[in-house]
Amino acid sequence: MTLDATIRAVQSKIGVAVDGNPGPQTWAAIHRAVVGDAPSAAIGKLADERSERAIVTLLPEVQPLARALVESAATIGIAIKVISGTRTYDEQNALYEQGRTKPGRIVTNARGGYSNHNFGIAFDIGVFEGGRYLNESPAYKAVGAMGMKLGLEWGGNWRTMTDEPHFQLRPSWAREMSERDMLAELRRRNSQNLPVFIYL
Ligand SMILES: [Zn+2]
Repeated sequence: MTLDATIRAVQSKIGVAVDGNPGPQTWAAIHRAVVGDAPSAAIGKLADERSERAIVTLLPEVQPLARALVESAATIGIAIKVISGTRTYDEQNALYEQGRTKPGRIVTNARGGYSNHNFGIAFDIGVFEGGRYLNESPAYKAVGAMGMKLGLEWGGNWRTMTDEPHFQLRPSWAREMSERDMLAELRRRNSQNLPVFIYL
């Protein structure tokens, strides 16, 4: 089921307006459906401190999914943290220069405005073992599968530049769009201060 369909199904089940635009009640129900019947305190429970610093930079529609991913991974014994969230165009440009005009290795091919990280819909996770960050681990694939179950897109599925730590929430209006067209529309909305997830 796509995330949109999930949201609508949950909304009609809990008897709130079915508009595909989840409010806190709907998110709580989605969270219960996905993560399971955690103690009631777990609804809206925050992730670890480091993850939260990145999660709060995401759009409100994406934040609960990032938290749910951290929590779902923990239930099967995989410790992950959200290590990167939203970057401004300036921060993206600085990152782009790394390995080009600045020291370090190349970590991105995207300039400011050309990364999904610039619009609050994308985040990267790290797998940790005994508190140590693992650059590579089969656990990334397991977390990828969980993310897709939550309705997220997983960078591990990309054909060019596979990016296993990367997750993003594709707006419903972009379902049939290429990544390039979606980014163009995201830039347009950003420049006009329009919301990302509303169908316009
Ligand atoms: Zn990423």
